[in-house]
Amino acid sequence: MQEDKDPAEALRRLAERVRRESENPRGKAWEAAESGRVVLLAGTRPRLWVVIGEEADYIVLPGTYCSCPHFMIRVLGEAEDKPCYHLVAVEAVRRGRAGRLVAVDATTDELADILSEALLTGRSRTLRRLLYGGDAEPRRS
Ligand SMILES: [Zn+2]
Repeated sequence: MQEDKDPAEALRRLAERVRRESENPRGKAWEAAESGRVVLLAGTRPRLWVVIGEEADYIVLPGTYCSCPHFMIRVLGEAEDKPCYHLVAVEAVRRGRAGRLVAVDATTDELADILSEALLTGRSRTLRRLLYGGDAEPRRS
């Protein structure tokens, strides 16, 4: 745990570390990027991303925020600067360090559905429908 619990300072350190780790993404971050599970919600301002995770779908604001439990508990709660792999995966794809860009065009209503499904139920059926044309799970590499 860091001694400095100032959230703004922790977020600044977090952004730096996300950027650093995204230079050479490893492990789950690499796998998520390479298997097309890092998805840009096209047209959103600021840009929102979804990482289709192992347990759930997480909403990511690049370098800043992730809706996963690690982020909520460790980063916001304990002011740690160790990013979750979702933040690293998004940054790696965004900067062309891993994987390829997968983007979905969603209507305003679909965006609202994606966000509420991901945040409230953990998995977005709407996102899967837009990506895969059904409720199918993404292919794993
Ligand atoms: Zn996360």
